[in-house]
Amino acid sequence: MITINFHGVRGSHPVADVQMMAYGGNTSCVEVVKTNKQGLKVPVIIDAGSGLIKFGYAMAAKLLAHEYSKTFTLLFTHLHPDHTEGFNFFTPSFYPFCTMYLLGMETLNYNVGVVLERRMLPPTFPIEYKDLKSVKRPGILTDGQWFFITQEGVPVAKNPDPLLEIRVMRAYSPSHPQQGALYYKIRDVEDGSTIVCIWDIESHIGGDVRVIAFAHDADLMIHDTQYTEAEYANVARPVQGFGHSTYSMAIENARKAGVKYLIPFHYNPRHTDTILDGIKAKYQGVKDLSVLMSYEGLSITLQNGVIIQQETLIEGFSE
Ligand SMILES: [Zn+2]
Ligand SMILES: [Zn+2]
Repeated sequence: MITINFHGVRGSHPVADVQMMAYGGNTSCVEVVKTNKQGLKVPVIIDAGSGLIKFGYAMAAKLLAHEYSKTFTLLFTHLHPDHTEGFNFFTPSFYPFCTMYLLGMETLNYNVGVVLERRMLPPTFPIEYKDLKSVKRPGILTDGQWFFITQEGVPVAKNPDPLLEIRVMRAYSPSHPQQGALYYKIRDVEDGSTIVCIWDIESHIGGDVRVIAFAHDADLMIHDTQYTEAEYANVARPVQGFGHSTYSMAIENARKAGVKYLIPFHYNPRHTDTILDGIKAKYQGVKDLSVLMSYEGLSITLQNGVIIQQETLIEGFSE
């Protein structure tokens, strides 16, 4: 059984607007969390968009209450600001008792840690990366790599009793400029429930065949849906080549991969609740696929590949 918590669902940049309160305005941050054999929750966090900030407050409280593992992993799809801007304000990174694995692609010969460190150099931020008191373990992931998360929350190549299995696909750069992005497949080793994280991708005619092959054994796909079909075809404001997909591209990849659930994600920051509600109505009841719109606070639990619980988290701002 794994739970997927959506802490930020926007693409490009955060928005704070009364017209966007239902789906939320924070940028990409998804948490996959599984309880280990000792009863501790072990999170794997995918992307550090602004959604990570509020989650950091909630996670800090759970760390201090000994509910969460003090060793955990952040996976980065890539290092554009909507996937990193929450990192500087992530409360657990200040705790000396936390060990954070920071894993992502090699960018211009640097690992994720170096890029995050540079984002915090003076005069751009008041605190430097080296002042974050947690133990930081940056690492590079490559196309086709797979690894495990142990019961203790450590990413390792081999383990006799792992909690999660993670596989990595690196997109070619035309799918997302300039260096592509990493897509992740995360499997609950216990019951086989499998999700794929496919965002910051511009799909292709007939679907992205590499993504379809990568996701063929997944139950649930979280997919980039930055544009409506009309926006994608708009001559007056061209967006083709920006590295994002439409709803029909996401549906095509999900259908051809054979997943049960599609979760639209990485919403256009111009899409209000009214627009997203309209999209939701349009794709409800689509054949052979459950389309569930992501929103900030959505929490989904999968068991044996089937959603057994869906709720809304309200947390992060208590003392
Ligand atoms: Zn993005
Ligand atoms: Zn991007």
